Amino acid sequence: MLSVEEARQRMLDTIPILPSEKRGILECTGYVLAESLPATENIPPFDNSAMDGYAVRAADVQNVSETNPAVLSVIETIAAGYAPTKQVAAGQAARIMTGAMMPEGADAVVMQEVTQQNGNTVKIFESVDETDNVRFTGESVAEGQQVMEIGKHLRPPEISMLASLNCADISVHRPPTVAIVSTGDELTPLGEPLTPGKIRDSNRYGLYAQVEEAGGVPIDMGIAPDDEVETERIFRAALAAADALITSGGVSVGEHDVVKTVLAKLAEINFWRVAMKPGKPQAYGIADGKPIFGLPGNPVSSLVVFELFVRPALLKMAGHTELLRPTFKATLTETITNRDGRVNYMRAILKVSDGEITAQTTGPQGSGILHSLVLANGLITIPTATTLEAGETVEAQFLF
Ligand code: AMP
Ligand code: MG
Repeated sequence: MLSVEEARQRMLDTIPILPSEKRGILECTGYVLAESLPATENIPPFDNSAMDGYAVRAADVQNVSETNPAVLSVIETIAAGYAPTKQVAAGQAARIMTGAMMPEGADAVVMQEVTQQNGNTVKIFESVDETDNVRFTGESVAEGQQVMEIGKHLRPPEISMLASLNCADISVHRPPTVAIVSTGDELTPLGEPLTPGKIRDSNRYGLYAQVEEAGGVPIDMGIAPDDEVETERIFRAALAAADALITSGGVSVGEHDVVKTVLAKLAEINFWRVAMKPGKPQAYGIADGKPIFGLPGNPVSSLVVFELFVRPALLKMAGHTELLRPTFKATLTETITNRDGRVNYMRAILKVSDGEITAQTTGPQGSGILHSLVLANGLITIPTATTLEAGETVEAQFLF
């Protein structure tokens, strides 16, 4: 059996990164930058005031105090968005608003709170030094400066920065389209009555939501029955329609072999037995450059294997370089024994209390018990053949 890390690395090594496309800036949140963007303008584009107050010559406002103010004549008011029309000479000041352009001659701004204007003169009660309360041309970003590297994940601050760089259309990696197929004669679509032996198809919906959350574009390809011809037809159509294919069900041992047979026809597929619980059987391969993920049918296994394998793969396709969720230590509130030769990914409630993170499992952990995930906000990893006592630490990660 392969370890999770080994199987995941082997898989990730073969995952393609999708080409770039231009998108309008408002459609770029969550995408990955595919071009380098040297600044074509200075930010800010001109020296300006950081305060509402008075633009002055610092030399005029030295050693002043409440009882010994400087008295300057006010020559004009400069609002944000307008250029000054006069130069500030010795003994003069210009009323100035935050973000307004500094006038020639002035080298500092005194904030309004330490001044008192009377008609055309202003009293200033606090000294200033040159450059005080002035924001200089290019101090945030200098023209020509490389602001963001290729591979940058575009979060709200990056979107704001791109706007300040005057980038209306941005080259980003294309997010993967992902076709999703459930397999099994027992599966009944929503809305139809359940007849004996049948169950609801839940995986397709969960996987659809997971693909969306991972930044992919899901394509629902329905349910494939346990019939080789029909399954092959659906899988081929799904692959043709998308950058990647996810199937659920039909990859465990002793299974009716339809899914495995069809997957093996589409590509060179590795049928992996990964040393993890849930989710031991998995299929992975690439057909015409498109990854195929054969996930186990049990609902918890399907969701957990997506989380640990498919999510990082989709992130890589979309150009991301941080593929795995960070792990950390959490303190167990209960004793847990794993007698298995497989690492147990248990569903847990992680809580921050008194500066540490505690972990409590979410009750019955069978691979069909979806509630174990509904109650959870994280996974904890119990190593093989180990007992961890309450109070001991365990590796944990947040989910979703
Ligand atoms: P399989 O991997 O096909 O042997 O399925 C393992 C278990 O998962 C069986 O109990 C299936 O009925 C169940 N199962 C398979 N596919 C789905 C699905 N799409 N939604 C809910 N349960 C499923
Ligand atoms: Mg099945």
